[in-house]
Amino acid sequence: MLTPFILHTYIFILGAVLGSFYNVVGLRVPLKKSITYPGSACSVCNNKLSVLELIPILSYLYQDGKCRNCKTSISPLYPTIEFLTAILFTISPLLVGWSKELVISWTLISLCMIVIVSDLKYMIIPDKVNVFFLFLFLGERLIIPTDPWWDPFAGLVIGTFVPLVVILVSRGGMGGGDMKLLAVFGLALGWKLVLLSFFLATLIGTVIGIIGMMMGLIKTGKPFPFGPFLVLGTLISYFFGQNLIQLYVTNFFPYIF
Ligand SMILES: [Zn+2]
Repeated sequence: MLTPFILHTYIFILGAVLGSFYNVVGLRVPLKKSITYPGSACSVCNNKLSVLELIPILSYLYQDGKCRNCKTSISPLYPTIEFLTAILFTISPLLVGWSKELVISWTLISLCMIVIVSDLKYMIIPDKVNVFFLFLFLGERLIIPTDPWWDPFAGLVIGTFVPLVVILVSRGGMGGGDMKLLAVFGLALGWKLVLLSFFLATLIGTVIGIIGMMMGLIKTGKPFPFGPFLVLGTLISYFFGQNLIQLYVTNFFPYIF
């Protein structure tokens, strides 16, 4: 029998291994490269990574964050993604329960990790990734329905039109990739939660943007990737949104609802 500890350890390892794959997807898809061939290699000296060097998280720590061959520093983004995927995969069942919804949560985390890598690296959220997950969520939502059943489709519509209005009004404050991503998120989360995702992403993005400008880390007028903020807003909304909405309603509109 699987004890909870072994089960969670297994999920953590699975998450770390998948996180390592999502790094590859996020790095290669925008360059139109195959995600399966060739195997991973150092981007500087092209040294093929051995089995030991492919172990997620640990290999980075063991190699002190450097390529074993040419000693070039490896971006801490990669082990961070591996660790984030692992930890989010592990806590998901505690938040959504051991239900079918777990499949949606793991799919959502997967999309989020790929988006972080490709948006931070190239400022691109590839159409291929958005389309793939659009169909994946569509299929999953057929098997794992919501109440009401049309909520995912309402989410898709809201997730498309809200950023579209922002793009038209701000003329370039957000990219088309961001809009398509939010549409896919809408399909997974439904209309209320995806609205909250967008609100949280904008709020967090604005706060970080102001702090970044004050510290001189971000230059005014220079675009910065919005994808990671959409990811953050969406993960908060997906896992805690119902509670946040409940809290808001009971505090501000106690007599209406
Ligand atoms: Zn190297």
